[in-house]
Amino acid sequence: MLNLRRFRSIFLSLLLFMMFFVPQISMAETLDNNVPDARPAASVPILKSAISLPVAGAATTNQLNSARWLVHKDAVEGTSKLRLVIDTSDPVIVSSTLDGNGPQLVLDIKGAVVGDLDDSITLDGQIAEKVRFIKKDGNNSQAIVDLPAMIDDGDYKVFTLKSDTANKKSFRVVVDINKPVPKVVYNFTPGLRNKVIVIDPGHGGSDPGAIGPNKVQEKTVTLGVAQKVKAMLENAGAKVLMTRQTDVDVYGPNASAVDELKARTIVANNNKADVFVSIHINAFSNPTVGGTATYYYQKSNYDALLATCIQDGLVATGGLQDRGTYPAGFYVIKRTTMPSILAELGFISNPAEEKLLSTYQFQQQMAQGIVQGLDKFFSQAAKRGGGL
Ligand SMILES: [Zn+2]
Repeated sequence: MLNLRRFRSIFLSLLLFMMFFVPQISMAETLDNNVPDARPAASVPILKSAISLPVAGAATTNQLNSARWLVHKDAVEGTSKLRLVIDTSDPVIVSSTLDGNGPQLVLDIKGAVVGDLDDSITLDGQIAEKVRFIKKDGNNSQAIVDLPAMIDDGDYKVFTLKSDTANKKSFRVVVDINKPVPKVVYNFTPGLRNKVIVIDPGHGGSDPGAIGPNKVQEKTVTLGVAQKVKAMLENAGAKVLMTRQTDVDVYGPNASAVDELKARTIVANNNKADVFVSIHINAFSNPTVGGTATYYYQKSNYDALLATCIQDGLVATGGLQDRGTYPAGFYVIKRTTMPSILAELGFISNPAEEKLLSTYQFQQQMAQGIVQGLDKFFSQAAKRGGGL
């Protein structure tokens, strides 16, 4: 649960967002103003085959007429993406594939030939190197984007836009490529033995977190669950570090939200933890809302995997509604350098869940879910091997 102390920093973030992000959106609008892309990249469904309208069978007069690009920076998240826009006279069907040998992103453009545009265009060099336009036959063409390093399916999307006569825009093919995340090499091995795991029980001391209708405090539940997770993990041979072991503030009483949260990330970063798990309980104005959700910040290819594994574990052992996993910019998951998640175990504002969460038995089930999730994570991460 986000508390009032944190509200101020959220408000400031929103202000920053308004100051920086909005003007840059309008910069992007000079290219395309009706692009369905306001959410963080990680949460956008990936459209790998973009279809606008049926294409005529006979030899076409439809052409790739021009192409342009820009890099869009998100001042809040610190991420950036390259957008490439290709104008076509009429609708086309586009499919895309990644070729690791290139490394390249290959777009097959059905229904349009290469028109009067440069054979190749140099791009920014960091996110993508250049795009080349190639004739396939009398009806079809290809656009091949050369990349500095191979990317994942989740790192790009391709879609088409209809013509917009009011704004004098033709049919368009749009390609968004996210800037690669910093390369941190992980070599996870299966099993919990000798893993360094930081458990962060949310809130504590002067900060109770959310409080339920029957006065159960979030900080008490998160510590109860965290202590049980610690015991189970240590039984399995893991090294566990807790950001707090008792009902205290981690930084100090009544510290600023950032100092308090930073103190928690330092525990993980200074001890070179393998993973970081922050435990919270949600709250909402409607008391009937309930369920479990897990949040991650995509710093590596392992953050979303960790979130999925722990969410699955919590839902399996706790049996509350599965609210899913989501990317989010919470401080503790963003500023820890290792894969990390923030789990909202249930809703303290829901009287039934408040009661459950305060029991030893249910806290034990939640802890079991987190431990199962961690075990599953390390075995799946080991299969992925090193790399990002
Ligand atoms: Zn909380």
